[in-house]
Amino acid sequence: MTFVTRFAPSPTGPLHLGHAYSALVAHDMARAAGGQFLLRIEDIDHTRSRLHWEEQIYDDLAWLGISWDKAPLRQSDRGLAYQEALQALWGRDLLYPCKCTRRDIAAATSAPQEGAGPAYGPDGLLYPGTCRATRVSGALPMPRDTALRLNMDMALGVLGDYEHFGFDETLPEDHRVRFTPRDLQRGVGDIVLSRRDFSGSYHLSVVLDDAVQSVTHVVRGQDLFEATQIHVVLQRLFGLKTPTYTHHRLIRDASGARLAKRDDARAIATYRAEGASPTDIRRMVGLI
Ligand code: GLU
Repeated sequence: MTFVTRFAPSPTGPLHLGHAYSALVAHDMARAAGGQFLLRIEDIDHTRSRLHWEEQIYDDLAWLGISWDKAPLRQSDRGLAYQEALQALWGRDLLYPCKCTRRDIAAATSAPQEGAGPAYGPDGLLYPGTCRATRVSGALPMPRDTALRLNMDMALGVLGDYEHFGFDETLPEDHRVRFTPRDLQRGVGDIVLSRRDFSGSYHLSVVLDDAVQSVTHVVRGQDLFEATQIHVVLQRLFGLKTPTYTHHRLIRDASGARLAKRDDARAIATYRAEGASPTDIRRMVGLI
């Protein structure tokens, strides 16, 4: 079996126990399968990414006993590929420019309505579709000074009929997760594929990068579970193969809260400085 997986941290802070768990699980799976473990530096957000965090990532992973089989892929080197992919979607009339700020979206969604309050999707408040009507033909040049959103209704129309997306082989058949077009319309909506200040959004880059790295198995945390349905839609739009997705548990602190990047107290570097060994880290995250 071909097995290629990856660990894809953002160099915006120190790696903590949650990252160590994710990297170790993926690395252990790759080694057990005789496959490959790759590294990707998700430094697309140049306002928050720092070279010293990237160096710390390499250092911490090597210390944990993790080796990667190819030179790491850096998203900051991939701008052209993201632009080409956006251009292709633009040419198919699947994108539209959006000038709404977070505040505009909050105001539009907080208007009193019957029933439940505002709906949230994987990227926060569900976009109410304010700019969708200002359709610009894909024959015209793609704007570069504004965010670009995927017109989800049109994307689903292009994809045609399908029953569900199922993609977690760790789940028994009857627990297999299904996402329907309706879930995507109601729970995801018109997501941003290009932010005004970067060349592509997380969703776009992760899909293109998994494909270019020939990733067959994505192993990542349950926090990204909802995002996976977006990635499957994009793979279908681009004609890319969908890898097998495994969403692992999240490492929480004693109070049950998820560890955050700013939680420097649980940074691997802090444990190292205090004299912990890689085996201690494996024990702390429940891998021994
Ligand atoms: N860069 C993401 C993170 O730091 C992970 C992306 C992924 O695994 O798809 O959480």
